[in-house]
Amino acid sequence: MMDFNLIVPHRLLDTIQSTAFDGQKEAGAWTLFRVAHVDCDPVTGRATRRYILNKVVPLMQTDVVSSSEKHLTVKTGSFVKVLGQAQLDELVPGFLHGHPSGYAAFSSRDDQNEAALSRAHRNKSGPGRAFVSLLALPSGRLLARVWTDPDTSYPATVTITGHRLRKCFVHEDDILETQALDRQTRVFGPGFNAQLQSLKVLIVGAGGTGSPLSVMLARSGVQSPVILDPDVIEETNLHRLYGATVKDIGSPKATVLAAHLNGFGLDTNALGIQGNLLDVAHRDLLKSADVIFCCTDDHASRLLLNRFAYFYELPVIDIGLAIERGEVDVKDMTGRVTRLGPGSPCLLCRNIVDPRRAREEELRAKDPEAYAFQVNEGYILGGGDPEPAFISMTTSVATLAMEELLQLMTGFRGDGGVVTQRLRRFQVPEDRRTGAKTDPDCPICSEIECWGLGDVTPFLDRVS
Ligand SMILES: [Zn+2]
Ligand SMILES: [Zn+2]
Repeated sequence: MMDFNLIVPHRLLDTIQSTAFDGQKEAGAWTLFRVAHVDCDPVTGRATRRYILNKVVPLMQTDVVSSSEKHLTVKTGSFVKVLGQAQLDELVPGFLHGHPSGYAAFSSRDDQNEAALSRAHRNKSGPGRAFVSLLALPSGRLLARVWTDPDTSYPATVTITGHRLRKCFVHEDDILETQALDRQTRVFGPGFNAQLQSLKVLIVGAGGTGSPLSVMLARSGVQSPVILDPDVIEETNLHRLYGATVKDIGSPKATVLAAHLNGFGLDTNALGIQGNLLDVAHRDLLKSADVIFCCTDDHASRLLLNRFAYFYELPVIDIGLAIERGEVDVKDMTGRVTRLGPGSPCLLCRNIVDPRRAREEELRAKDPEAYAFQVNEGYILGGGDPEPAFISMTTSVATLAMEELLQLMTGFRGDGGVVTQRLRRFQVPEDRRTGAKTDPDCPICSEIECWGLGDVTPFLDRVS
C-alpha cells in the first residue's frame, strides 16, 4: 500500500482556475507532473509517491467531445499527443477538470473518462504507468486521485506550496475542530488547526533556534514534527536549549527534544533522529515534508536545502542569528528569517551561505580523515571560535520563523506581507525587510527549468 500526494505550486493556481471552468460549463486541461519517490515516510512508515505539477496544457476546442454544467468528455486521441511529450520529458501525464457546481467528488462520468485515459496511457506507454487526475472546485479546493492502471485509482492529498501553504484533504467534511486548540481558532478561524495538525514539518537543527521552534510547533498542534540533528548536548548548550537538563548532557539533541515534545500530553508524536542532513539515508525526511525549517549554522546543510526548496517546490524557512562583538561591546545583533523556494532569491544570491565553508563541512561530514589531513596541512582553517548566542535572541528568531509559517498558511499580514526575508536587528527599535535580487545567472533561483524537477540523478543535480 502506498500513499499519494500532489504538490501544486501556488503560482499555477490562476491557470488551474481559468482552465477548469468555462463559465458555468465544465472545462479542463492536460497536466504534466514530475515525481518524488519516498521509500519510507518517517511518520507513516509507508512508501509515498509525490507528483509535482509541472505544466498545465489547455485543451483545444478539438480535444473536447462534449461539455455541460455537469460533464466534460475529451478525446483520448488528443491525449496521445500529450503522452508523447510526457515520455520525452520524463513527466507523468494527467488530466484536470472543474466542477462549477461545486460537487466535491469525482462523478461516475469522471470514472469512465479517466479509466479510458488511463487505458490509452497503458496502451502507449506500457503497464504500471501512473496517471494523475485533478479536480478543481470554485472554492479553490483541489481533489486528486492517481490511477495506477485502468481499473485502479487511489485518492491523493494535495499540498499547495509557494507564497502560500495549504493542504486539501481527501475528506474535508470529516474534520473535527479540536477543543483544546479553541483559542487558536479564535485567532485564525475554523480549519486552521486541522491544517497545522496535519502539516509534515522537518526541523533541521535542534539547538538554540530549533528547540524553541519545535516547542511552538508541537504546542500549537503539529502532530508529527521530525527533528534531525547530528550533535549531542553539551554543558555550553544548556543556557539556550529548550527541553534539556543537566542529565541530558551527552545525549543526542534530537531525541531529547522529541521526548520533551512527546511529554506534553498533547498526542504529539515527534520523531528525533540523530544524524546529518548530508547523509543519503535522510533523503526521505526531506522529500516527505510539507515545510522544512533550517535551524542549523552549518553551511553545507544550508546549501543543500537551498537547492532542495527549488527542485522539490517545498518551502524552506531558513533561520540565522549573527552576533558580532567588538573590543568592548556588541557591534551588531541580527536575526534573520528567509523563505526559500521558487519566486524567492536563493541564499547564494543573498550572499548568506559560504560555498567554501560548505565544501569544507561536507568533507568533514563525509570523510573525517581527509578533512583532518587538510586541516593539518593548513588547506582548511578548521573549527574557529564558537558563535556568540543568547537565549532571548535565539528564541526571538525562532518566533519570527513560526510567524513566517503562519503567513504562509493564513496570509495574516495581508497582500503586502509576502516578503521573502525579514531581519530583526536587536540593537535598533524597528524590524527591517530587505530587498534581494536574483542573479540572472543563478543556476538555482533564476532557472525555472530546475523548479519542481523532483527526483533527478544525481540528487538535486549536484556533483559533489
Ligand atoms: Zn467531473
Ligand atoms: Zn540564486
